[in-house]
Amino acid sequence: MKRWFIAVAGCVLWFVIGTAWASVSRVSVLVRLEDPSQQAFLMEYTFQGIDSGTLKVAIPTWTPGWYQTMPYSEGIRDMQAENERGEPLSIQPVNHYSWRIDTGGAQRVRLRYRVLAREEGMGFFGVAMGPHHAFINGAAAFVYEMDSKNVPHEVRFRLPVGWQVATAMDFASQSEQRPFGDVRDTFIAANYDELIDDPIQMGHFEVREFRARGVPMRVVFASETGNILCNMDRITADFQRIASVGIDLFGSAPFKRYLFIVHLSNRGFAGGLEHLKSTVLNVPDRRDLNINALAAHEYFHAWNVKRIRPKVLGPFDYTQPVRTRALWWCEGVTDYYAYLLLLRAGLMGERDFWQEMEREIFTLENNPAQARVSLEEASWNVWEGNGMGYGGLSYYNKGKVVGFLLDVYIRGVTGNRKSLDDVMRFLMERYSYPKPGFEEDGILQAINRVVAQDVSVLYRRMVASTEPLPYDEILKYIGYRLERQSTSTTYFGATSMVDQVGRVIIQAVESQSPAFLMGLRAGDIVMEVDEEPADRRIEDVVSRKKPGDPIKIAVWRRGSLVVMEGKIGGESRYSIRLTPEPTADEAVLRVREGLLRGTTRVSAQAEVH
Ligand SMILES: [Zn+2]
Repeated sequence: MKRWFIAVAGCVLWFVIGTAWASVSRVSVLVRLEDPSQQAFLMEYTFQGIDSGTLKVAIPTWTPGWYQTMPYSEGIRDMQAENERGEPLSIQPVNHYSWRIDTGGAQRVRLRYRVLAREEGMGFFGVAMGPHHAFINGAAAFVYEMDSKNVPHEVRFRLPVGWQVATAMDFASQSEQRPFGDVRDTFIAANYDELIDDPIQMGHFEVREFRARGVPMRVVFASETGNILCNMDRITADFQRIASVGIDLFGSAPFKRYLFIVHLSNRGFAGGLEHLKSTVLNVPDRRDLNINALAAHEYFHAWNVKRIRPKVLGPFDYTQPVRTRALWWCEGVTDYYAYLLLLRAGLMGERDFWQEMEREIFTLENNPAQARVSLEEASWNVWEGNGMGYGGLSYYNKGKVVGFLLDVYIRGVTGNRKSLDDVMRFLMERYSYPKPGFEEDGILQAINRVVAQDVSVLYRRMVASTEPLPYDEILKYIGYRLERQSTSTTYFGATSMVDQVGRVIIQAVESQSPAFLMGLRAGDIVMEVDEEPADRRIEDVVSRKKPGDPIKIAVWRRGSLVVMEGKIGGESRYSIRLTPEPTADEAVLRVREGLLRGTTRVSAQAEVH
């Protein structure tokens, strides 16, 4: 019933009701770390203003930004609760992610538990700890009272001497001079969703600071080894340019401060995770480290997915997978914008932009899964997929290509008066958190609104079907053509020679190669290939064939004729080129220019006057 209210009544009412119905009026947490070698945090909760006989405490089963079930509860140990007189209270596990505490009428309850720092490297989805650093991704460490997610959550730290804290969370003693809190501060989040959407870096780290269009931003470089190779000043300068053009696109920033946490770790993987007003980027350190594309992607998420989002992505249900058909928009279109931001910030050339689009189209057009799985299916079923999509289709890849085509299309049909930027701004205005997110058809409705016509047929073709994308139909608006050439590399795995008397003799056969699997062996004398007398090396025969072609070979082996059949291996691919039409007229060139400069006729006029 509460959820039903959320659906119909909007966020303002929901906050009021949510707070009124909460079992607890305030939650405060002390995060304690005395000895990093113990590989665990001690979490000390105080629940105040309790008006219920039981507290239902849970740890999320997934973390926003990564649509896969996570075993966070396995890291929670030694849970104990007591009332205001220090008397122990009974705690019963309810299921694999939640517990019930019998309050015995207490109005204030203290809850303690340990969180194991189980994540390798410097942390990302979970909790990690080393001699000089520790990291918390909130969903892995902070439990919540299930009826009290909407009350303020306060956080303090007790850390080893000399350790610092970096987080974008608000802090009680906030002032103009000090945009970011430090280890002595009490931090505060408006609700549980916000609490766990501010990752926390602790320990020793390097800090760089700047302002982007007046908004204070901080870059924290934490290294697993203590050594830092990358050029922190150059990276920071690039981030400033990216951050500025992001704010320019929307006209303002939806955050008071922004924090880039850079984990320089060779373990784990390279990637980023978006948060409400920060991001964590995990990359192996290098002298010439360039993480602009990754940073731009995660930073753009501060708008697209953290504010502009499908309804199920905030407020969150952490107890089960939540499904939406729009993840291609959240991820793929964000990735398209990462490249637009780099282009607009002058950190990427036009040539590189076209090459990037060619690369994405190449990947998509050589992926047989696009004929089986639509973007919406890949989004909906990601929980059964690999976190990037489903059934072999990546919604990052196809979503980026579709984002590009939508941008070109919108610019084309409006004579470059509108662009995908206008769709983003419309969505931001209508759905920005804490307003409720968009319905499943929200993107289509927003595009229709911006172009002032119904584009459902084209939209459904690109997003909800497995039909080929209408490249030429759309690219004509910027005077480009998609050239597709079939290329193939064959693989057979046998080498041969022709001896002085003209016999073709197999010299070597690679284990498990197509030649091996059909039965060919070194020493075989080839008599016939495809029922023709053998007169040339087997490699020359194979070079005239394509991957998948059948081949029949008769050989003389130890006094008898052996006939075998098989197939040529290798792969066929399309090479992709985006080619500008030399005869494009002025109107087309204007649309092309608009795409590359990030301008529309409206914005260009506004700049002149
Ligand atoms: Zn992303």
